[in-house]
Amino acid sequence: MARTPLDRIRNIGITAHIDAGKTTTTERILYYTGKNHRIGEVHEGNTTTDYMEQERERGITITSAAVTAEWKDHRINVIDTPGHIDFNIEVNRSLRVLDGAVFIIEGVAGVQPQSETNWRLADRYNVPRIIFINKLDRTGADFYRAAATLTEKLGINWVTLQLPIGIEDTLKGVVDLVEMKALIWEGDELGAKYHDAPIPDDLKEKAAEYRQILLDTALSVDDAGMEEYFEKGDVSVETLKRAIKRGTIDGTFRPVFCGSAFKNKGVQPLLDAVIDYLPAPTDIAGIKVAYDEGMDETTQPDRRIIPANVDAPFSGLAFKIVNDKYGNLTFVRVYSGVLKSGDTVMNTTKGNKERIGRMFQMHADKREEIKEVTAGDIAAFVGLKDTGTGDTLADAADPVVLERMAFPVPVIDIS
Ligand code: GDP
Repeated sequence: MARTPLDRIRNIGITAHIDAGKTTTTERILYYTGKNHRIGEVHEGNTTTDYMEQERERGITITSAAVTAEWKDHRINVIDTPGHIDFNIEVNRSLRVLDGAVFIIEGVAGVQPQSETNWRLADRYNVPRIIFINKLDRTGADFYRAAATLTEKLGINWVTLQLPIGIEDTLKGVVDLVEMKALIWEGDELGAKYHDAPIPDDLKEKAAEYRQILLDTALSVDDAGMEEYFEKGDVSVETLKRAIKRGTIDGTFRPVFCGSAFKNKGVQPLLDAVIDYLPAPTDIAGIKVAYDEGMDETTQPDRRIIPANVDAPFSGLAFKIVNDKYGNLTFVRVYSGVLKSGDTVMNTTKGNKERIGRMFQMHADKREEIKEVTAGDIAAFVGLKDTGTGDTLADAADPVVLERMAFPVPVIDIS
């Protein structure tokens, strides 16, 4: 298997208030990334006997920890972030290992209580976020009103990147404000495609107005882009995308996207946005090592940072253990270096050695055995004997202990 260059990896989470559509959106992502043969509706459930096994398998995969999808030459690892408030410790744990998140809110209710809780948690870890407004086909859904709750409830600086074309069941696509074109849906909800079209006449004025807001907001973080704008009266798509990515990563503003009728047809532009605006492992500073015994931010402010680098000694963090029919799977986020099956590493948290057995990447409908993992990636290891959630695995040549979760994490796994 060829190594995926680090700038083509995205480790993302999808977070939402319960019922806002996290499962459905994840299903659609897996469908459109071509790994699913068909979509499993959450409630209709295509659970004819033929599909039972596959459904069950996928159900496990999706909720298990991390599932890998390919989109436009990029590898997207979708890390499960539980939405329910009772799982805050687990939300913390998973937020720790992702580099960016898709934050789903609902088209009718907008920001809901769990959205607020999860938003604050993501703030604590400085997770770059893009916002996806879902269920816009439902009666009473209103993109603009739902977006307004981002200001009212979260008090954040957000900016619109898409406008919906039509309302509720007449929704037929979105206006893409970056490229100033319409994306119109075709086909049924299971195999929807989109095609480019001119912006509808009745939306032209509104689109121009919103694009101006987008330009003003995005270029505020990009001096070169601002100069280009003053010289030419506009900027190239590349410049605008660069500025949006910059602002998204540093959290200056949060881009907002819309789903479209029926049910998450907007997921393909959402995947494009994940690639365009959420960071690769190399776009962010890297992980810090843990505080020394008894130290904290005030007594040890300058901890060493481990940047994403394939050529550095190996380091990774075990973030979830899942017990399934294949045995104990330890999910590891790799921060630096390369690790091959058969290698021996240190569990630097516990001070013992672990031999790496088989390693897998989980896809929607299969698990792929891999022979090595590299910086930036996520994989499931089989056969680790004494590694718990939150433990660091590292090369004995540089036995670092990585920053632990901010909250106490129970050693007993809850999978
Ligand atoms: P989760 O709890 O956030 O994972 O939400 P689910 O994905 O399970 O969705 C909750 C319910 O909303 C399910 O019955 C879905 O079929 C439905 N749903 C999800 N997305 C949409 C959408 O875009 N439109 C409509 N009308 N229903 C949706």
